[in-house]
Amino acid sequence: MINGIKPLDRSLRWGMVGGGGTSQIGYIHRSAALRDNTFTLLAGAFDIDAERGRAFGTSLGVDSHRCYADYETLFRQEAERADGIEAVSIATPNNTHFAICKAALEYGLHVVCEKPLCFTTAEAEALAELSQKQNKIVGLTYGYSGFQLIQQARSMIAEGLLGDIRIVNMSFSHGFHNEAVELDNPSTRWRVDPKFVGPSYVLGDLATHPLFLAETLLPALKIKRLMCSRQSFVKTRAPLEDNAFVLMEYDNGAVGSLWCSAVNSGSMHGQRIRAIGSKASIEWWDEQPNQLRYEVQGEPVRILERGMSYLAPHVLEEDRISGGHAEGLFEAWSNLYRRFAIAMDATDRGDKALLARFWYPDVHAGVAGVRWVERCVESADAGAIWVDFAS
Ligand code: NAD
Repeated sequence: MINGIKPLDRSLRWGMVGGGGTSQIGYIHRSAALRDNTFTLLAGAFDIDAERGRAFGTSLGVDSHRCYADYETLFRQEAERADGIEAVSIATPNNTHFAICKAALEYGLHVVCEKPLCFTTAEAEALAELSQKQNKIVGLTYGYSGFQLIQQARSMIAEGLLGDIRIVNMSFSHGFHNEAVELDNPSTRWRVDPKFVGPSYVLGDLATHPLFLAETLLPALKIKRLMCSRQSFVKTRAPLEDNAFVLMEYDNGAVGSLWCSAVNSGSMHGQRIRAIGSKASIEWWDEQPNQLRYEVQGEPVRILERGMSYLAPHVLEEDRISGGHAEGLFEAWSNLYRRFAIAMDATDRGDKALLARFWYPDVHAGVAGVRWVERCVESADAGAIWVDFAS
């Protein structure tokens, strides 16, 4: 059980780029990073508007001299300090991730980066190589993968409880953008502008989440080829899609489907993953994250509850409040940030044994997501044809 005791004998000196006072996602980054005393927030370039960023940083208690106007100044000046930051989180719009992540690694920082990691496989692979060369980690905030029951599902599948895996059915389909809400909402506006998001909207913004859940549940399953059809139901969003369907074939003969949408009117989030085997199925829904459905053919449905003693021991190690109480996205993110800190510390100590058996959404997860979006766009724009995934 996680009880607030530091898992490390130090707290990593940490900064942020983006995630300012008006951002959607900055607060959950800070809540998660600071929750277990594994990171201390000491510096940042929090906002595209330098003055607003400084005012915000100081309101968080960061020294005003360490609230910088931009990320280059942040990295350069922190590198000159004996007590400069060791790790940085990047929570800016997508078009900036590559340059900021590259610069951070070049300055010898560990990185936590928002998804998607960048826009092209070539860029993503370059970041993976740089991270290896610099011996610094890049963690990706696929936040839903931090839910305990995702780790439980992973264990049950690894144990063979589902039998041979046949079908993976995924969706992330909400209804919040069923109209052109971007006209009044700056946080949505950049999401439908190719200048900021590159070649896709919902494929990169939404689909990469359940895609990573599938990678987490089924690490042995490799996509062989895929086919994508994408649409812009709000016409002003074209060529970016606000809805897409993807079919996948895996190398073991299994098949998968993923529906991502921002125009699923009436749906709150609609992120689900269902893994179907020859004996049983498992299903998890992010709107009820404390329950996992386990359905054995011919038997009554079992609903596994978070925090209960019948879960795997390593899953219970990440329990924060015991069964019966709801945990949510903030706890899932905290679990991930805790893992990022442990991986950063182990990397600094050269603890290869720990790293070899340690799971967290790493730079390869970032590369896989970028490659997947790239292939989906290629397929859709060629008329929804099958394209090889790996080549
Ligand atoms: P937002 O528009 O609400 O906020 C962006 C923040 O970044 C603002 O504070 C802005 O001032 C700042 N900023 C922009 N450019 C900057 C720069 N060059 N230097 C410093 N600060 C800069 O966006 P958001 O919704 O918070 O999304 C940010 C990122 O987080 C995106 O990549 C998005 O895809 C991702 N995101 C991830 C999740 C998740 O579940 N992991 C959820 C939402 C958003």
